[in-house]
Amino acid sequence: MKTEIVVVGGGPAGMMAAGTAAQNGAEVLLLEKNEQLGKKLLITGKGRCNLTNDCSIERMIENFPETGSFLYSALYTFPNHQLRNFFAELGVPTKVERGDRVFPESDSARDVVDALKGYLKDKGVEIRLKTAVNEILVEEGAVKGVMDRDGNSYLADKVVFTPGGASYPTTGSSGDGYEMLETVGHRIKSIKPSLVPLQAKEGWVASLEGLTLKNVEAGLYLNEEEIDSEFGELLFTDDGVSGPIVLTLSRDVVSRLGEGSLKLKIDLKPALDEQTLDNRLQRDFEKYSRKQFKNSLGDLLPSKLIPVIVDLVSIPADKKVNQITVEERRELMQLVKELEVTIIGTKGLRQAIVTKGGVMIDEIDPQTMESKLVSDLYLAGEVIDIDAYTGGFNLQAAFSTGYLAGINVVD
Ligand SMILES: Cc1cc2nc3c(=O)[nH]c(=O)nc-3n(C[C@H](O)[C@H](O)[C@H](O)COP(=O)(O)OP(=O)(O)OC[C@H]3O[C@@H](n4cnc5c(N)ncnc54)[C@H](O)[C@@H]3O)c2cc1C
Repeated sequence: MKTEIVVVGGGPAGMMAAGTAAQNGAEVLLLEKNEQLGKKLLITGKGRCNLTNDCSIERMIENFPETGSFLYSALYTFPNHQLRNFFAELGVPTKVERGDRVFPESDSARDVVDALKGYLKDKGVEIRLKTAVNEILVEEGAVKGVMDRDGNSYLADKVVFTPGGASYPTTGSSGDGYEMLETVGHRIKSIKPSLVPLQAKEGWVASLEGLTLKNVEAGLYLNEEEIDSEFGELLFTDDGVSGPIVLTLSRDVVSRLGEGSLKLKIDLKPALDEQTLDNRLQRDFEKYSRKQFKNSLGDLLPSKLIPVIVDLVSIPADKKVNQITVEERRELMQLVKELEVTIIGTKGLRQAIVTKGGVMIDEIDPQTMESKLVSDLYLAGEVIDIDAYTGGFNLQAAFSTGYLAGINVVD
Protein backbone atom coordinates (compact mmCIF):
# COMPACT_ATOMS: atom_id res chain seq x y z
CA MET A 1 0.00 0.00 0.00
CA LYS A 2 1.18 3.54 -0.77
CA THR A 3 2.32 5.73 2.13
CA GLU A 4 -0.40 8.25 2.81
CA ILE A 5 0.88 11.74 3.40
CA VAL A 6 -0.95 14.87 4.46
CA VAL A 7 0.79 18.17 3.79
CA VAL A 8 -0.51 21.24 5.65
CA GLY A 9 0.02 24.57 3.87
CA GLY A 10 0.22 25.29 0.15
CA GLY A 11 3.16 27.71 0.11
CA PRO A 12 6.51 26.98 -1.57
CA ALA A 13 7.60 24.57 1.20
CA GLY A 14 4.32 22.64 1.18
CA MET A 15 3.96 22.48 -2.59
CA MET A 16 7.53 21.26 -2.98
CA ALA A 17 7.10 18.66 -0.23
CA ALA A 18 3.79 17.43 -1.66
CA GLY A 19 5.05 17.16 -5.25
CA THR A 20 8.30 15.48 -4.23
CA ALA A 21 6.54 12.91 -2.02
CA ALA A 22 4.07 12.13 -4.80
CA GLN A 23 6.86 11.86 -7.35
CA ASN A 24 8.50 9.31 -5.05
CA GLY A 25 5.40 7.17 -4.93
CA ALA A 26 3.34 8.48 -2.01
CA GLU A 27 -0.36 9.24 -2.03
CA VAL A 28 -0.51 12.90 -1.06
CA LEU A 29 -3.28 15.19 0.16
CA LEU A 30 -2.41 18.90 0.39
CA LEU A 31 -4.54 21.05 2.70
CA GLU A 32 -4.54 24.83 2.27
CA LYS A 33 -6.71 27.26 4.18
CA ASN A 34 -6.83 29.89 1.43
CA GLU A 35 -8.97 29.71 -1.67
CA GLN A 36 -5.75 29.40 -3.71
CA LEU A 37 -2.23 28.01 -3.44
CA GLY A 38 0.88 30.18 -3.09
CA LYS A 39 -0.77 33.46 -2.14
CA LYS A 40 2.42 34.82 -0.57
CA LEU A 41 4.60 33.43 -3.35
CA LEU A 42 2.59 35.53 -5.82
CA ILE A 43 3.70 38.78 -4.17
CA THR A 44 7.34 37.83 -3.65
CA GLY A 45 9.98 40.04 -5.24
CA LYS A 46 7.32 42.68 -5.95
CA GLY A 47 5.50 40.17 -8.14
CA ARG A 48 8.71 39.03 -9.88
CA CYS A 49 9.68 36.31 -7.35
CA ASN A 50 13.33 36.31 -6.39
CA LEU A 51 13.26 32.54 -6.03
CA THR A 52 16.86 31.86 -5.11
CA ASN A 53 20.39 33.22 -5.21
CA ASP A 54 23.14 32.06 -7.56
CA CYS A 55 25.85 31.97 -4.88
CA SER A 56 27.75 29.09 -3.27
CA ILE A 57 25.99 27.04 -0.60
CA GLU A 58 28.49 28.34 1.96
CA ARG A 59 27.55 31.93 1.18
CA MET A 60 23.90 31.02 1.26
CA ILE A 61 24.30 29.59 4.75
CA GLU A 62 26.07 32.78 5.85
CA ASN A 63 22.94 34.66 4.83
CA PHE A 64 21.01 32.90 7.61
CA PRO A 65 23.03 34.61 10.35
CA GLU A 66 21.82 32.63 13.34
CA THR A 67 20.59 29.22 12.25
CA GLY A 68 22.18 28.70 8.81
CA SER A 69 24.12 25.58 9.79
CA PHE A 70 20.81 23.77 10.34
CA LEU A 71 20.22 24.07 6.59
CA TYR A 72 23.38 22.28 5.36
CA SER A 73 21.63 19.02 4.45
CA ALA A 74 18.59 20.70 2.94
CA LEU A 75 20.64 23.09 0.80
CA TYR A 76 23.11 20.41 -0.32
CA THR A 77 20.32 17.93 -1.10
CA PHE A 78 18.35 20.46 -3.13
CA PRO A 79 20.66 23.35 -4.02
CA ASN A 80 19.98 26.51 -5.96
CA HIS A 81 21.08 25.13 -9.36
CA GLN A 82 18.75 22.15 -8.92
CA LEU A 83 15.90 24.51 -8.09
CA ARG A 84 16.63 26.47 -11.27
CA ASN A 85 16.70 23.23 -13.31
CA PHE A 86 13.46 22.16 -11.67
CA PHE A 87 11.70 25.33 -12.80
CA ALA A 88 13.36 25.28 -16.24
CA GLU A 89 11.97 21.77 -16.78
CA LEU A 90 8.55 23.07 -15.79
CA GLY A 91 8.85 25.76 -18.47
CA VAL A 92 10.04 28.60 -16.23
CA PRO A 93 13.66 29.41 -17.14
CA THR A 94 15.42 31.78 -14.79
CA LYS A 95 17.95 34.61 -15.00
CA VAL A 96 20.51 36.11 -12.62
CA GLU A 97 20.43 39.78 -11.67
CA ARG A 98 22.41 42.15 -9.43
CA GLY A 99 23.56 40.53 -6.20
CA ASP A 100 23.21 37.06 -7.82
CA ARG A 101 19.45 37.26 -7.31
CA VAL A 102 17.58 34.74 -9.45
CA PHE A 103 14.23 35.60 -11.05
CA PRO A 104 12.06 33.89 -13.67
CA GLU A 105 13.00 35.16 -17.14
CA SER A 106 9.38 36.22 -17.50
CA ASP A 107 9.62 38.40 -14.33
CA SER A 108 6.39 36.76 -13.22
CA ALA A 109 5.75 35.19 -9.82
CA ARG A 110 2.49 33.95 -11.31
CA ASP A 111 4.52 31.70 -13.65
CA VAL A 112 6.29 30.19 -10.64
CA VAL A 113 3.02 29.46 -8.86
CA ASP A 114 1.41 28.07 -12.02
CA ALA A 115 4.42 25.83 -12.64
CA LEU A 116 4.14 24.41 -9.11
CA LYS A 117 0.42 23.88 -9.52
CA GLY A 118 1.06 22.04 -12.80
CA TYR A 119 3.71 19.93 -11.08
CA LEU A 120 1.28 18.92 -8.30
CA LYS A 121 -1.38 18.02 -10.83
CA ASP A 122 1.06 16.03 -12.90
CA LYS A 123 2.19 14.00 -9.88
CA GLY A 124 -1.38 13.34 -8.79
CA VAL A 125 -1.44 15.34 -5.55
CA GLU A 126 -4.97 15.82 -4.24
CA ILE A 127 -5.56 19.43 -3.19
CA ARG A 128 -8.15 20.62 -0.76
CA LEU A 129 -8.50 24.42 -0.55
CA LYS A 130 -10.37 26.46 2.08
CA THR A 131 -9.37 23.86 4.65
CA ALA A 132 -7.87 25.36 7.80
CA VAL A 133 -6.14 22.80 9.97
CA ASN A 134 -6.31 23.49 13.68
CA GLU A 135 -4.99 20.36 15.34
CA ILE A 136 -2.20 17.87 14.85
CA LEU A 137 -3.40 14.42 15.92
CA VAL A 138 -0.79 12.54 17.93
CA GLU A 139 -1.03 9.13 19.62
CA GLU A 140 1.75 7.60 21.67
CA GLY A 141 4.35 9.99 20.35
CA ALA A 142 3.52 9.49 16.67
CA VAL A 143 1.44 11.63 14.34
CA LYS A 144 -1.82 10.13 13.13
CA GLY A 145 -3.13 12.97 10.98
CA VAL A 146 -4.65 16.42 11.39
CA MET A 147 -8.06 17.92 12.07
CA ASP A 148 -9.58 20.99 10.42
CA ARG A 149 -11.65 23.76 12.00
CA ASP A 150 -14.89 22.02 11.03
CA GLY A 151 -13.87 18.91 12.94
CA ASN A 152 -13.00 16.80 9.88
CA SER A 153 -9.99 14.59 10.46
CA TYR A 154 -7.48 13.58 7.82
CA LEU A 155 -5.63 10.47 8.88
CA ALA A 156 -2.19 9.83 7.47
CA ASP A 157 0.94 7.75 7.90
CA LYS A 158 2.98 10.93 7.92
CA VAL A 159 2.31 14.66 8.05
CA VAL A 160 4.41 17.46 6.57
CA PHE A 161 3.58 20.67 8.40
CA THR A 162 4.38 23.86 6.45
CA PRO A 163 2.01 26.65 7.58
CA GLY A 164 4.62 29.42 7.19
CA GLY A 165 5.46 32.13 9.71
CA ALA A 166 3.41 35.01 11.07
CA SER A 167 4.34 37.85 8.74
CA TYR A 168 2.01 39.27 6.07
CA PRO A 169 -0.89 37.39 7.72
CA THR A 170 -3.28 38.40 4.95
CA THR A 171 -1.51 35.86 2.75
CA GLY A 172 -2.57 33.04 5.08
CA SER A 173 0.56 32.64 7.20
CA SER A 174 -1.00 34.05 10.33
CA GLY A 175 1.06 32.11 12.84
CA ASP A 176 -1.55 29.45 13.67
CA GLY A 177 1.06 26.72 13.23
CA TYR A 178 2.95 27.72 16.36
CA GLU A 179 0.14 27.00 18.78
CA MET A 180 -0.61 23.64 17.18
CA LEU A 181 3.05 22.68 17.45
CA GLU A 182 3.27 23.84 21.07
CA THR A 183 0.27 21.67 21.86
CA VAL A 184 2.19 18.60 20.66
CA GLY A 185 5.25 19.56 22.70
CA HIS A 186 7.44 21.76 20.46
CA ARG A 187 9.06 24.94 21.79
CA ILE A 188 8.75 28.12 19.73
CA LYS A 189 11.53 30.71 19.74
CA SER A 190 9.89 34.11 20.19
CA ILE A 191 8.38 35.55 17.04
CA LYS A 192 9.57 38.92 15.74
CA PRO A 193 9.31 40.78 12.47
CA SER A 194 12.42 40.63 10.29
CA LEU A 195 13.18 42.31 6.96
CA VAL A 196 10.82 45.05 7.97
CA PRO A 197 10.50 48.82 7.36
CA LEU A 198 12.01 51.04 10.06
CA GLN A 199 10.32 53.88 11.91
CA ALA A 200 12.15 57.18 12.22
CA LYS A 201 12.04 59.93 14.83
CA GLU A 202 12.46 62.73 12.29
CA GLY A 203 9.13 64.13 11.11
CA TRP A 204 10.60 65.26 7.79
CA VAL A 205 10.63 61.70 6.43
CA ALA A 206 6.86 61.99 5.88
CA SER A 207 7.40 64.75 3.32
CA LEU A 208 9.57 62.32 1.35
CA GLU A 209 7.05 59.47 1.36
CA GLY A 210 7.37 57.49 -1.87
CA LEU A 211 10.80 58.86 -2.78
CA THR A 212 13.24 56.13 -3.83
CA LEU A 213 16.95 56.85 -3.68
CA LYS A 214 19.04 54.58 -5.88
CA ASN A 215 22.76 53.88 -5.35
CA VAL A 216 22.99 55.31 -1.87
CA GLU A 217 24.93 53.85 1.03
CA ALA A 218 23.37 53.56 4.48
CA GLY A 219 25.43 52.87 7.57
CA LEU A 220 23.70 51.50 10.67
CA TYR A 221 25.10 52.97 13.90
CA LEU A 222 24.57 51.75 17.44
CA ASN A 223 25.71 54.36 19.97
CA GLU A 224 27.67 56.12 17.21
CA GLU A 225 29.57 52.95 16.26
CA GLU A 226 28.95 51.57 12.77
CA ILE A 227 27.67 47.99 12.98
CA ASP A 228 26.64 47.40 9.37
CA SER A 229 26.23 49.14 6.05
CA GLU A 230 24.49 48.48 2.75
CA PHE A 231 24.63 49.96 -0.72
CA GLY A 232 21.63 50.15 -3.05
CA GLU A 233 18.05 51.35 -3.04
CA LEU A 234 16.27 53.10 -0.14
CA LEU A 235 12.64 54.18 0.02
CA PHE A 236 11.05 56.78 2.31
CA THR A 237 7.70 55.87 3.89
CA ASP A 238 5.11 57.90 5.82
CA ASP A 239 6.97 57.35 9.10
CA GLY A 240 10.40 56.02 8.23
CA VAL A 241 12.45 54.16 5.68
CA SER A 242 12.18 50.94 3.71
CA GLY A 243 13.53 49.50 0.45
CA PRO A 244 16.03 46.68 -0.13
CA ILE A 245 18.99 48.07 1.84
CA VAL A 246 16.83 49.04 4.81
CA LEU A 247 15.13 45.63 4.89
CA THR A 248 18.55 43.99 4.99
CA LEU A 249 19.76 46.29 7.79
CA SER A 250 16.49 45.81 9.68
CA ARG A 251 17.55 42.34 10.73
CA ASP A 252 20.28 43.88 12.89
CA VAL A 253 17.92 46.59 14.09
CA VAL A 254 15.44 43.97 15.35
CA SER A 255 18.13 42.26 17.41
CA ARG A 256 19.77 45.48 18.72
CA LEU A 257 16.69 47.60 19.51
CA GLY A 258 16.82 48.72 23.12
CA GLU A 259 20.62 48.50 23.34
CA GLY A 260 21.12 52.22 22.75
CA SER A 261 20.74 54.89 20.11
CA LEU A 262 20.27 53.45 16.62
CA LYS A 263 20.81 55.66 13.59
CA LEU A 264 21.06 55.33 9.86
CA LYS A 265 23.58 57.63 8.23
CA ILE A 266 22.76 57.88 4.55
CA ASP A 267 25.50 58.79 2.10
CA LEU A 268 23.54 60.35 -0.75
CA LYS A 269 26.61 60.43 -3.00
CA PRO A 270 28.73 57.40 -2.13
CA ALA A 271 30.55 57.48 -5.48
CA LEU A 272 32.04 60.90 -4.64
CA ASP A 273 34.64 61.26 -1.91
CA GLU A 274 34.50 64.46 0.16
CA GLN A 275 36.96 66.35 -2.02
CA THR A 276 35.20 65.38 -5.26
CA LEU A 277 31.83 66.27 -3.78
CA ASP A 278 33.19 69.62 -2.61
CA ASN A 279 34.52 70.32 -6.12
CA ARG A 280 31.13 69.38 -7.50
CA LEU A 281 29.37 71.75 -5.08
CA GLN A 282 31.74 74.54 -6.04
CA ARG A 283 30.94 74.00 -9.73
CA ASP A 284 27.18 74.00 -9.03
CA PHE A 285 27.50 77.13 -6.88
CA GLU A 286 29.41 78.87 -9.67
CA LYS A 287 26.72 77.92 -12.16
CA TYR A 288 23.93 79.19 -9.89
CA SER A 289 25.90 82.00 -8.22
CA ARG A 290 23.11 84.59 -8.61
CA LYS A 291 20.34 82.33 -7.37
CA GLN A 292 19.10 81.77 -3.84
CA PHE A 293 20.58 78.74 -2.04
CA LYS A 294 17.24 76.87 -2.12
CA ASN A 295 17.31 77.04 -5.93
CA SER A 296 20.85 75.79 -6.40
CA LEU A 297 20.68 72.09 -5.64
CA GLY A 298 18.59 70.83 -8.57
CA ASP A 299 21.57 69.25 -10.34
CA LEU A 300 22.70 67.39 -7.23
CA LEU A 301 19.59 66.10 -5.47
CA PRO A 302 16.07 64.87 -6.31
CA SER A 303 13.65 67.81 -6.11
CA LYS A 304 11.61 66.27 -3.26
CA LEU A 305 14.71 66.07 -1.09
CA ILE A 306 15.89 69.66 -1.63
CA PRO A 307 13.55 71.41 0.89
CA VAL A 308 14.52 68.86 3.55
CA ILE A 309 18.24 69.38 3.01
CA VAL A 310 17.79 73.17 2.88
CA ASP A 311 15.89 72.96 6.18
CA LEU A 312 18.47 70.78 7.91
CA VAL A 313 21.52 72.82 6.98
CA SER A 314 22.12 76.16 8.70
CA ILE A 315 22.46 78.11 5.42
CA PRO A 316 19.43 80.45 5.08
CA ALA A 317 17.21 79.22 2.22
CA ASP A 318 17.16 82.63 0.52
CA LYS A 319 20.86 83.37 0.89
CA LYS A 320 22.52 84.28 -2.42
CA VAL A 321 24.69 81.36 -3.55
CA ASN A 322 27.71 83.64 -4.15
CA GLN A 323 27.58 84.61 -0.46
CA ILE A 324 27.76 81.07 0.91
CA THR A 325 30.92 80.63 2.96
CA VAL A 326 33.39 77.76 2.75
CA GLU A 327 32.23 76.55 6.21
CA GLU A 328 28.62 76.55 5.08
CA ARG A 329 29.50 74.62 1.95
CA ARG A 330 31.41 72.11 4.09
CA GLU A 331 28.38 71.69 6.35
CA LEU A 332 26.21 70.99 3.32
CA MET A 333 28.73 68.49 2.04
CA GLN A 334 28.73 66.68 5.41
CA LEU A 335 24.95 66.50 5.34
CA VAL A 336 24.92 65.02 1.84
CA LYS A 337 27.47 62.42 2.96
CA GLU A 338 25.72 61.66 6.27
CA LEU A 339 22.00 62.33 6.31
CA GLU A 340 20.95 61.04 9.73
CA VAL A 341 17.75 59.15 10.46
CA THR A 342 17.14 58.12 14.08
CA ILE A 343 15.54 54.68 14.34
CA ILE A 344 12.87 54.40 17.03
CA GLY A 345 11.31 51.09 16.06
CA THR A 346 10.25 48.75 13.31
CA LYS A 347 6.94 48.11 11.64
CA GLY A 348 5.11 45.01 12.89
CA LEU A 349 4.67 41.50 11.55
CA ARG A 350 1.96 42.69 9.18
CA GLN A 351 4.61 44.42 7.09
CA ALA A 352 7.56 42.09 7.69
CA ILE A 353 8.91 40.07 4.77
CA VAL A 354 9.86 37.22 7.07
CA THR A 355 9.33 36.02 10.62
CA LYS A 356 12.30 35.75 12.94
CA GLY A 357 11.89 32.89 15.42
CA GLY A 358 9.75 29.77 15.13
CA VAL A 359 10.15 26.08 15.92
CA MET A 360 13.46 25.50 17.70
CA ILE A 361 15.90 23.92 15.26
CA ASP A 362 17.29 21.50 17.85
CA GLU A 363 13.90 19.80 17.89
CA ILE A 364 14.09 18.90 14.17
CA ASP A 365 16.39 16.38 12.49
CA PRO A 366 18.23 18.48 9.87
CA GLN A 367 18.93 15.38 7.72
CA THR A 368 15.24 14.56 7.25
CA MET A 369 13.16 17.46 8.67
CA GLU A 370 11.39 15.01 10.96
CA SER A 371 10.38 16.25 14.39
CA LYS A 372 12.54 14.80 17.15
CA LEU A 373 9.54 14.93 19.49
CA VAL A 374 6.71 13.50 17.39
CA SER A 375 7.59 10.72 15.00
CA ASP A 376 6.26 10.86 11.42
CA LEU A 377 5.73 14.63 11.76
CA TYR A 378 7.91 16.65 9.37
CA LEU A 379 8.41 20.41 9.35
CA ALA A 380 9.56 22.68 6.53
CA GLY A 381 9.67 26.34 5.56
CA GLU A 382 9.31 29.51 7.55
CA VAL A 383 7.52 27.88 10.51
CA ILE A 384 11.02 26.78 11.55
CA ASP A 385 13.37 29.25 13.24
CA ILE A 386 15.23 30.08 10.03
CA ASP A 387 15.33 33.50 8.43
CA ALA A 388 17.75 35.13 6.05
CA TYR A 389 18.61 38.44 4.51
CA THR A 390 16.95 39.44 1.24
CA GLY A 391 18.29 37.94 -1.98
CA GLY A 392 16.22 34.81 -2.61
CA PHE A 393 17.55 32.87 0.40
CA ASN A 394 14.24 32.56 2.23
CA LEU A 395 12.48 30.96 -0.71
CA GLN A 396 15.42 28.63 -1.39
CA ALA A 397 15.20 27.50 2.25
CA ALA A 398 11.45 26.87 1.89
CA PHE A 399 11.97 24.86 -1.31
CA SER A 400 14.98 22.93 0.02
CA THR A 401 13.43 22.00 3.37
CA GLY A 402 10.19 21.10 1.60
CA TYR A 403 12.10 18.88 -0.81
CA LEU A 404 14.06 17.19 2.00
CA ALA A 405 10.85 16.45 3.89
CA GLY A 406 9.24 15.26 0.64
CA ILE A 407 11.89 12.62 -0.06
CA ASN A 408 12.07 11.47 3.55
CA VAL A 409 8.38 10.86 4.13
CA VAL A 410 8.45 8.12 1.53
CA ASP A 411 9.65 4.76 2.91
C1 LIG B 1 5.97 40.85 0.38
C2 LIG B 1 6.91 39.67 0.47
C3 LIG B 1 7.89 39.52 -0.50
C4 LIG B 1 8.79 38.46 -0.41
N1 LIG B 1 9.71 38.32 -1.40
C5 LIG B 1 10.61 37.31 -1.32
C6 LIG B 1 11.54 37.10 -2.37
O1 LIG B 1 11.50 37.75 -3.43
N2 LIG B 1 12.47 36.11 -2.20
C7 LIG B 1 12.51 35.32 -1.07
O2 LIG B 1 13.39 34.45 -0.97
N3 LIG B 1 11.59 35.45 -0.11
C8 LIG B 1 10.64 36.41 -0.21
N4 LIG B 1 9.68 36.53 0.76
C9 LIG B 1 9.65 35.52 1.87
C10 LIG B 1 9.01 34.21 1.37
O3 LIG B 1 7.82 34.52 0.68
C11 LIG B 1 8.71 33.25 2.53
O4 LIG B 1 9.86 33.04 3.28
C12 LIG B 1 8.15 31.93 2.00
O5 LIG B 1 6.94 32.14 1.31
C13 LIG B 1 7.92 30.92 3.11
O6 LIG B 1 7.37 29.76 2.54
P1 LIG B 1 6.48 28.75 3.38
O7 LIG B 1 5.97 27.74 2.42
O8 LIG B 1 7.20 28.30 4.58
O9 LIG B 1 5.28 29.64 3.93
P2 LIG B 1 4.13 30.49 3.18
O10 LIG B 1 4.57 30.90 1.86
O11 LIG B 1 3.72 31.50 4.16
O12 LIG B 1 2.98 29.41 2.98
C14 LIG B 1 2.29 28.85 4.08
C15 LIG B 1 0.93 28.39 3.60
O13 LIG B 1 0.29 27.67 4.65
C16 LIG B 1 -1.09 28.07 4.70
N5 LIG B 1 -1.58 27.85 6.07
C17 LIG B 1 -1.25 28.56 7.17
N6 LIG B 1 -1.91 28.09 8.24
C18 LIG B 1 -2.69 27.06 7.79
C19 LIG B 1 -3.62 26.21 8.41
N7 LIG B 1 -3.90 26.30 9.71
N8 LIG B 1 -4.25 25.27 7.66
C20 LIG B 1 -3.99 25.17 6.31
N9 LIG B 1 -3.13 25.98 5.68
C21 LIG B 1 -2.48 26.91 6.40
C22 LIG B 1 -1.05 29.53 4.33
O14 LIG B 1 -2.30 29.97 3.88
C23 LIG B 1 0.01 29.55 3.24
O15 LIG B 1 -0.53 29.34 1.97
C24 LIG B 1 8.73 37.55 0.68
C25 LIG B 1 7.74 37.70 1.64
C26 LIG B 1 6.83 38.75 1.54
C27 LIG B 1 5.76 38.88 2.59
